[in-house]
Amino acid sequence: MLCKWCRSTEANQSNNTVYWELPDGSRAITINETPCIHCEDCGMQYQTDETTEIIENHLLLIDTKLLPDITNYEQLLAQPKILKRYYFDFST
Ligand SMILES: [Zn+2]
Repeated sequence: MLCKWCRSTEANQSNNTVYWELPDGSRAITINETPCIHCEDCGMQYQTDETTEIIENHLLLIDTKLLPDITNYEQLLAQPKILKRYYFDFST
């Protein structure tokens, strides 16, 4: 896999811990075991655009107040999306 920082081909899929600011800016949470690319050559660990998008989108759709300060990627994505229900609630 190609490292987007140093162009080395020594980059591998891995996972790491990331600190993510919530969309409303109220706090940051720790997300363990988040899929990342780890480059053996330059030591860089980074999330792909795809993973970043999945996390960002999901945080917009769930009730982030229910999130613990420390979670993991799987638990985060398991949080039920509430946005749709809110729409229904408002319309009834
Ligand atoms: Zn690299």
